[in-house]
Amino acid sequence: MSDIAAILAANENISKDTLQSHADRIDRERKFPRENLQALGAAGVLGILIPAEFGGAGGTPADMSRALQAQAQGCASTAMVALMHYCACAVIAAKGGDAMKRQLLPSAARGEHISTLAFSEAGSGGHFYAPVSKVRLDCGAKKLSARKTFVTSAGEADSYVVSTRALHAAAPTECDLYLIPKGASGFSAQGRFEGLGLAGNASAPMTLEDVPAGDAARLGAEGSGFQTMMEVVLPHFQIGVASVSIGIAGAAFEKITARVGARKYEHAAGAALASIPRVQFLVAEMAIELNSARAYLAETIRKALAADPAAMLDVLGVKAKAAESCLNVVSRAMTLGGGWAFGQRGGLERHFRDAQAAAVMAPASDVLKDFIGKACLGLPLF
Ligand SMILES: Cc1cc2nc3c(=O)[nH]c(=O)nc-3n(C[C@H](O)[C@H](O)[C@H](O)COP(=O)(O)OP(=O)(O)OC[C@H]3O[C@@H](n4cnc5c(N)ncnc54)[C@H](O)[C@@H]3O)c2cc1C
Repeated sequence: MSDIAAILAANENISKDTLQSHADRIDRERKFPRENLQALGAAGVLGILIPAEFGGAGGTPADMSRALQAQAQGCASTAMVALMHYCACAVIAAKGGDAMKRQLLPSAARGEHISTLAFSEAGSGGHFYAPVSKVRLDCGAKKLSARKTFVTSAGEADSYVVSTRALHAAAPTECDLYLIPKGASGFSAQGRFEGLGLAGNASAPMTLEDVPAGDAARLGAEGSGFQTMMEVVLPHFQIGVASVSIGIAGAAFEKITARVGARKYEHAAGAALASIPRVQFLVAEMAIELNSARAYLAETIRKALAADPAAMLDVLGVKAKAAESCLNVVSRAMTLGGGWAFGQRGGLERHFRDAQAAAVMAPASDVLKDFIGKACLGLPLF
């Protein structure tokens, strides 16, 4: 068995055992999934995308996708934290200086250092590619000030890939990415996460007030942040969120198929809910929805790995499609679960809440369709 195959097998086991058994408590207590991350880190799962020379498994987005689907099936909060870590590590590996990579990536691969993306801002909302945060020169030293709205792992992660408008930017998309350590002077994460779903992922606002942002902390050449977002962050993030959505939908599908088989009616001589043709029809629709999202994801990953020029349109579309499919499957599962599901038994209601995040996470499904429509019509995207 190759390293990556062994890591993915370990990920399956940890997701089924550790993540699944902690999921309800993490959700109920809104607890950051530290133990889950430790288990995944110890098995090398958090280093899937990190090159082997820096202690990782040197895997591909296909490997990341498999890992995230299994994790999300167990605990979607954990999967989202892992996804943000994967995206941040991909940027550091692609654009970080050698010293930064040597210092940080080996511990990130072991899960001893958690990283994340801090892009979203009130000033640009879902238009993440146009930060309004600023860098200024103070006696020749760069200082970064930013107000980030929704940062997964805020205050919990050890480092943050932070977007900001570049020093001499002429347009909003002329931006830079910096790696800012937790605890840097001027750094603070505020508040407890009270969101509808993904309750364990510590998504919270973050403020940076004149945080030192030297050239060694910049990820890539000055003004290259937008290109890095498009070439490195977007493909990993889109494929990753689609994978999380499919994992959530898969978990809901498993639970509801078991439930409709087990739900028996005394008034009908013990017949199961599953014996009703309309129920079978709805289950079939859910299966088709889930499998079409899975197929679209597999095709997107295939094109992305082959550097197919047509991949970008699918990279944009797959997150929207998987988010919609997930919402369809989970909503239907809630209906078929009846009072059992509504009464918060069986865990379906957690999947229903967790499923809502993907459509609004930037780029939101509506924004993606705006891009795709423009691209299909030969119009400029920005
Ligand atoms: C659970 C969770 C975790 C998150 N984690 C992170 C993180 O780790 N890092 C990070 O940087 N951010 C994170 N975010 C933030 C997220 O990525 C979005 O940026 C944020 O939720 C959107 O912000 P907004 O509400 O200001 O959107 P707005 O810009 O106010 O948009 C609201 C809605 O308007 C519509 N809309 C907006 N623009 C267009 C358009 N051009 N065309 C069509 N419709 C449009 C869409 O329906 C959109 O959903 C997270 C969000 C959630 C929910």
